[in-house]
Amino acid sequence: MIVVMQPAAEEAEVKGVCEYLETAGLAVHLSQGVERTIIGAIGERAKLSGLALEALPGVEKVVAILAPYKLVGRAFRAEDTVVGIGPLTVGGRTIQVMAGPCAVEDREQLIETAHLVKEAGATILRGGAFKPRTSPYAFQGLEAKGLEYLAEAREATGLLIVTEVMDAHTLPLVARYADILQIGARNMQNFFLLREVAQIDKPVVLKRGPSATIEEWLLSAEYIVSGGNPRVILCERGIRTFETYTRNTLDLTAVPVVKHLSHLPVIVDPSHGIGKWRYVPPMARAALAAGADGLLVEVHPRPAAALCDGPQSLTPDNFRALMAELKGLAAFLGRDM
Ligand code: PEP
Ligand code: MN
Repeated sequence: MIVVMQPAAEEAEVKGVCEYLETAGLAVHLSQGVERTIIGAIGERAKLSGLALEALPGVEKVVAILAPYKLVGRAFRAEDTVVGIGPLTVGGRTIQVMAGPCAVEDREQLIETAHLVKEAGATILRGGAFKPRTSPYAFQGLEAKGLEYLAEAREATGLLIVTEVMDAHTLPLVARYADILQIGARNMQNFFLLREVAQIDKPVVLKRGPSATIEEWLLSAEYIVSGGNPRVILCERGIRTFETYTRNTLDLTAVPVVKHLSHLPVIVDPSHGIGKWRYVPPMARAALAAGADGLLVEVHPRPAAALCDGPQSLTPDNFRALMAELKGLAAFLGRDM
């Protein structure tokens, strides 16, 4: 349930309500809106019933949240969440572009890509050091060495780093290097991993599972937020449908839907979403038009030689051309880029 405080409620009254809820054995989450404070109370139904919250000073009303997700829903927070990552924000006016190779392959490949995506206007460098591959015989990533190259690329360019964490065992290592942790599509419902990243003080890009409904995706986000980490960025990356011509079906309908249901920022990965480089630019443009707060795009200096996802990777020239177009589109949409 949520407790909506009166606009003029004092700090001591908010504190009083929080203490009352905690004494009843409930987890308390505060949302300080522009107008008023909202207090989320999460716990078993038995503990929620029988409370006399309306009797407490400063309380305007008590509302049951009917959606299965609570803290990530608009009922808990009406304003858009703006996730801060060092000097950058995701979810505000500014559109952030995260770009780079699917996998970190070697030092030169990564540093070269980092410089070129930065010059084209990207602010965050992507690159997998631990790769979830369908085949056990495919390139699995450079692991720790890959993280070192990512750190070196950050040092050389000033770009922030987003990279995938695949399990709890390697989380401390990945978190030492990453500015943003990526939970891949295949791990969206690895609830144990979600609980672990909830305890790390780093933003999380949570990709949508290939066959996850929007509700399941939001419930996975709820795991992270309720576990103590409010900095979640949702990433639509395509779902599995009957269509085989494209790698996945990029579900751009999810962008306005999720932005209506949730206050969390939403970004789009058109590269995995469609799986063929030729169609990445139109889908990137469509994502921004649909309201996405950012993009995750695969770029490789020589896609034909890529160890992973070459067919969907943009060449440097194609990425530069796309970024120039997106800047114009962002301005038209009233956003900065
Ligand atoms: C990736 O970003 O390289 C990746 C593996 O993505 P996904 O988890 O969406 O398949
Ligand atoms: Mn990839």
